[in-house]
Amino acid sequence: LANDDALRDLAAAMNSAGAGSWTASPLVAGTQPAGEKIAVTNPADRRETVGHWQASTSADVERALANAVAAQPGWDATPASSRAALLEHAADLLEARMPAYMAMCTKEAGKTLADGIAEVREAVDFLRYYALQAREHFAPIALPGPTGESNQLQLAGRGVFACISPWNFPLAIFLGQIAAALAAGNTVIAKPAEQTNLIGFAAVKLMHDAGIPQDVLQYLPGDGATVGAALTRDPRVAGVCFTGSTETARLINRALASREAGPIATLIAETGGQNAMIADSSSLPEQVVKDALGSAFTSAGQRCSAARVLLVQDDIADKVIGMLAGAMAELKVGDPGLPSTDVGPVIDTEAKCVLDEHAAKMQGSAKFIARATLGEGTQHGTFFAPTAWELKSIAELDREKFGPALHVVRWKADELDALIDTINATGYGLTLGIHSRIDATIDRIVARAKVGNIYVNRNQIGAVVGVQPFGGQGLSGTGPKAGGPHYLPRFATEKTVTVNTTAAGG
Ligand code: NAD
Repeated sequence: LANDDALRDLAAAMNSAGAGSWTASPLVAGTQPAGEKIAVTNPADRRETVGHWQASTSADVERALANAVAAQPGWDATPASSRAALLEHAADLLEARMPAYMAMCTKEAGKTLADGIAEVREAVDFLRYYALQAREHFAPIALPGPTGESNQLQLAGRGVFACISPWNFPLAIFLGQIAAALAAGNTVIAKPAEQTNLIGFAAVKLMHDAGIPQDVLQYLPGDGATVGAALTRDPRVAGVCFTGSTETARLINRALASREAGPIATLIAETGGQNAMIADSSSLPEQVVKDALGSAFTSAGQRCSAARVLLVQDDIADKVIGMLAGAMAELKVGDPGLPSTDVGPVIDTEAKCVLDEHAAKMQGSAKFIARATLGEGTQHGTFFAPTAWELKSIAELDREKFGPALHVVRWKADELDALIDTINATGYGLTLGIHSRIDATIDRIVARAKVGNIYVNRNQIGAVVGVQPFGGQGLSGTGPKAGGPHYLPRFATEKTVTVNTTAAGG
């Protein structure tokens, strides 16, 4: 890795243990980590130990909650512009440390270098965007009213927010959630995914280095079923910002609903998808194949926005399938630290097993199209070679397959509406790709599809902060969209202040 030096420097700065030794432990004001140290291995080569992490104990959880409750009024009273300035400082620091954070994304999460850069840039964008939004939204709004009365609308923090993150965007989504919750005046307890504790730890350290107080933002690594569940059950938590699977969102929803004390908690959830890309016979096969490939296999298919099913109109289907197989043969699957690599490993052994099981099932029921070749040195990592199969219907897929697995389905001209209904019937509603050169067809699909993000004649990934707000509907999330103008206010509560200005002293 070209970035090994930067990585060592950051490890030295973060850990008193010294250079090259990564340890992520709970960051809870007033406690010392006590949990057992668990090894973190490199997904591209499981023989390499990248560092260690220590899970939070129940005492850490309790202390973090007490700290967060005590610190919230002071943080909420801090002017929004001062909170925003701290986030902007964190963005500057992250930009300056970009090589090290990129390298961590590769070492711990198996991201390619291109994905690592994109991840850090997105995190920087989130920090700056929510800072900007805090400055805009948190200025009190004077409302017109009758003579003798003044009315003002103010926003304030809700209280303590738990931010619970997935491993597939361990820096961008994690910091995006944290930045929004903090910007709105909440104190935050951040729980990363079990697979990406080192990156999570480095992210929270960065925020502390930027000046966010230790009790305003705390870090609680640990299992979802223990640490995550303890947070969502606790009546001191006023809101949960969650990104992850639909199944976990349901568990969290249930935990929040069954609390018998505390506020009616807010849940902001971004979840999974079963995303389709539709190509009609007017579309350009080269473009369709390029975009399907880019969407399905970038980040080893571990993006919630990735196309899982390519629906091709029958008269161009043979051509598209032939070109797809040819393009898959060119994919370079291997060490994510090499600039030439297109597809790196999947996150862990469990993810690989799920994909292997899916491949075995497809072997019995679907028509095989192509499988990319695994490159040299992949035998010690958790790699799954990108694979494509042909199915009769999207309904044959039961749930999201989170990895480089693409499915192709043919359709006939008179089936377009029924096709969209089948996509809607999955219940997911995250992304949809449309490839067509007929405006009326594009408009028809856009109007009928129940999805959050639609990409027309382009790669079906992308969630540019402030430009392409991202998020789904139905089984794919509650909204509002991350990186969009309505996101931040959901983390806040509104106060209307009405004053009788004719009263003595008014
Ligand atoms: P996951 O649901 O397994 O875990 C997400 C987080 O929830 C982790 O931090 C985990 O520890 C925690 N968790 C697990 N059980 C919990 C419980 N009972 N209570 C509280 N917390 C609990 O998801 P994952 O495998 O980390 O991430 C992949 C999933 O995330 C995919 O489904 C993907 O589509 C989705 N995702 C969605 C978006 C989006 O914007 N819609 C973005 C990225 C990822």
